[in-house]
Amino acid sequence: MKASMDKIVNLCKARGFVFPGSEIYGGFANTWDFGPVGVELKNNIKRAWWKRFVQEDPSTFGLDAAILMNPTVWDASGHTQSFSDPKMDCKNCKQRFRADNLIEEHSKGSVSAEGMTTEQMENYINEHKVKCPRCGNFNWTPIRQFKLMFETSRGTVEGEKDVVYLRPETAQGEYVNFLNVQRTARAKVPFAIAQIGKAFRNEITPGNFLFRTVEFEQMELQTFCKDENSMSIYENMKKKALKFAEDVGLDKDHLRFHDHEKLAFYAKAACDIQYLFPIGWEELNGIHHRSTHDLSRHQEFSGKSQAYLDPVTNEKYVPSVIEYSIGADRLTLALLCEAYDEETLENGETRVVMHFHPAIAPYKVAILPLQKNLSDKAKEVYSVLSKKFMCDYDEAGSIGKRYRRQDEIGTPFCVTIDFDTLEDDTVTIRDRDTMAQERIKISALPDYITKKIEF
Ligand code: ATP
Repeated sequence: MKASMDKIVNLCKARGFVFPGSEIYGGFANTWDFGPVGVELKNNIKRAWWKRFVQEDPSTFGLDAAILMNPTVWDASGHTQSFSDPKMDCKNCKQRFRADNLIEEHSKGSVSAEGMTTEQMENYINEHKVKCPRCGNFNWTPIRQFKLMFETSRGTVEGEKDVVYLRPETAQGEYVNFLNVQRTARAKVPFAIAQIGKAFRNEITPGNFLFRTVEFEQMELQTFCKDENSMSIYENMKKKALKFAEDVGLDKDHLRFHDHEKLAFYAKAACDIQYLFPIGWEELNGIHHRSTHDLSRHQEFSGKSQAYLDPVTNEKYVPSVIEYSIGADRLTLALLCEAYDEETLENGETRVVMHFHPAIAPYKVAILPLQKNLSDKAKEVYSVLSKKFMCDYDEAGSIGKRYRRQDEIGTPFCVTIDFDTLEDDTVTIRDRDTMAQERIKISALPDYITKKIEF
């Protein structure tokens, strides 16, 4: 890895990618605000995902479901009963930890706490005298289950308010709309529903910048299929998810599959794609074969059939679900880490450059007049290009400094306007990665840039 997490956080704050949430009030732990450059980056990442999985696939349909759902949804999904993490507090320094993480870190990954009971985890921690990673003491509270769903209430009369939950995942919106989408899109199984939206989790150990936050966006795709085809759809989803991660800009040597050994009782297979973050190999996204569990549970709790009627064979069945879920913020973090580079130039200076794929770069082109008295012409060029692309405009400071700034926010092209531009309507276009410059007609710019930023 070229960058530590600290470097990424500092660059993000200095250049307007990401600011700490509620900063002027001293912040609000593990919330982050995307600034002018960051919002473009994240939107472009979401757009690239949508293009790949929805726009280019005739059997995938989009959805934008409500965040607040009928609370029974969360009974059916199992979240009200079991969406919790095993927490332990260090009595000495008062820091809170996840017991499963303590075990996995202590055993350096050789022991998996997945599927361990509370008692088994407590036994492991006692037998191995696992110490507090913060203060080094061995002085734990017993394990308690910590609920991960945020609760709020609805209703106008005090005392008669009903509990509602901020959704901890977007998937349930896709499940409860399975038949709505199937009917209105006239979709035949197998087909998929995709959505991008906010999710909220009261995480015990959030942190590492955007990696684990309490409010984040998920990009999810649920494929509804017949059980007999489900394993090949699952395998195919793994390949497609990996290909997307590579195409959007992550180095294949920094990506790997991690198949789960212990599965939920209903699951047939599960795997993560891990990315080599500056904090080590960690989950980037999950792909889960969830069998017929989700639709069957909604059928049971809603009392409404969730069966699909095959129009050719007349067979009626509840489909299986293959889920692909990736955090937009976590992917943004991975792409920030991957793109970061410090290069030594021929004159001995160092430049920081973000090598984003041009399709996700916040600005596609920066328009830079060489001198202030060229600004009228430069603004003309800006108004032509900004109809097609997100453009930056900068006339302050030396041209060298302006290039450095654009390199740091990953702008793939800089267009400089000079006195020749006034004569012949040509400009110099500079490539971020090679720093090569070429002279080109203003009228040729839109096509030139369009070709280079394709995803
Ligand atoms: P973890 O084991 O890291 O808690 P998970 O297995 O609970 O994650 P899923 O429920 O499968 O995660 O969520 C799907 C994806 O959503 C994850 O792969 C990740 O990209 C993203 N995600 C989950 N929790 C968070 C979070 N707290 N902050 C940011 N992104 C998250």
